[in-house]
Amino acid sequence: MPNAESLPISIQGITKTYGRVHALDNVDLEVKSGEFLTLLGPSGSGKTTLLMALAGFTRPDYGSVRFGDEEVILKPPHLRDVGMVFQNYALFPHMTVAANIAYPLKLRKVSKAEIETRVEQALETVQLGGYGARRITQLSGGQKQRVALARAIVFNPRIVLMDEPLSALDKKLRDHMQIELRQMHDQLGMTTIYVTHDQREALTMSDRIAVINNGKVRQLGTPREIYDTPANRFVADFIGESSFLELEEGESGLTCEGIEILARHTPEDNLPKSLVIRPERLFPVNGKRPADTNLFKGTIRQIVYQGDAAMVYIDQSTGAELVMRCGTDNETLQSLKRDSEITVGLHRDDTVIVSDDETKG
Ligand code: ADP
Ligand code: MG
Repeated sequence: MPNAESLPISIQGITKTYGRVHALDNVDLEVKSGEFLTLLGPSGSGKTTLLMALAGFTRPDYGSVRFGDEEVILKPPHLRDVGMVFQNYALFPHMTVAANIAYPLKLRKVSKAEIETRVEQALETVQLGGYGARRITQLSGGQKQRVALARAIVFNPRIVLMDEPLSALDKKLRDHMQIELRQMHDQLGMTTIYVTHDQREALTMSDRIAVINNGKVRQLGTPREIYDTPANRFVADFIGESSFLELEEGESGLTCEGIEILARHTPEDNLPKSLVIRPERLFPVNGKRPADTNLFKGTIRQIVYQGDAAMVYIDQSTGAELVMRCGTDNETLQSLKRDSEITVGLHRDDTVIVSDDETKG
């Protein structure tokens, strides 16, 4: 299949209210040509509303959407040249696989001979070659989602929008399809906006992630930036597993229980601050304090074995809880005992401080 000509997307000031609900609150977002960008957020955060506004099925109250140089906000969906994949597949159950995939080509009045070739190519792309004559009802969930995908790409759209396309599949197939979808994107090259509430899926698949909450983009960045340098407490809490320790303003910097904290990154604003602790960045400290390391003391409440790792739950005397992740081949793990005292370290370069914002908790 030829490479689709991809287009950048420019979203400016998009607002959509339903009664008193701000489904989208003044959203700005620039998506690069050929990029795989994921909208990640909890249920009800506005992801589907934004996707529907891009596809033209929802008319925002305010704002602008441009595909390349073209303002499309007043354009009806069928003229936007956008491929869509939905969570529930939205296939026609009474039609064959081939007829489903041919549908957007028929709408575009493509000739019969060309339809046949393009449908077969699309089936090959989603690894369903030879399945054209099957009925939709004869397919598994994963195969149905591939047909939906083939239908979304068969007319070489410059933009593809996907709304939680894998959420109906079981975990193993989902993991497999994540890699396949990403490979297909890299092969075809169209600008893709992908919606998920699954942070791991977002980290796995995306060039960049827009983390959304309450109709607002809370952070836009690469998976690494989002994970390593969350912009606020909401993002730190939503992505990965974290413990939080509240910080106070000390004489020469931020402190936790009176002890100054060394950090790689501290936001410059007047909001209250918390320390973000990722479980895999904590390590047990015996004896001498390593350089550039923050130390925390506590009592081991529980050790949970997970096969490839163990999670160690630590209660601090202040009531705060820390979670440390250890490899299971680790000698130190053998030495850790429930109800015993422990000191754990967090290197300065792994220490991130975030501002608490209105979406805390
Ligand atoms: P997400 O896809 O992130 O789960 P949605 O975009 O579907 O979130 O919804 C965002 C908010 O807008 C939610 O509070 C939802 O209840 C509300 N909403 C969405 N569509 C409608 C609608 N057609 N009528 C009323 N409220 C809606
Ligand atoms: Mg949704």
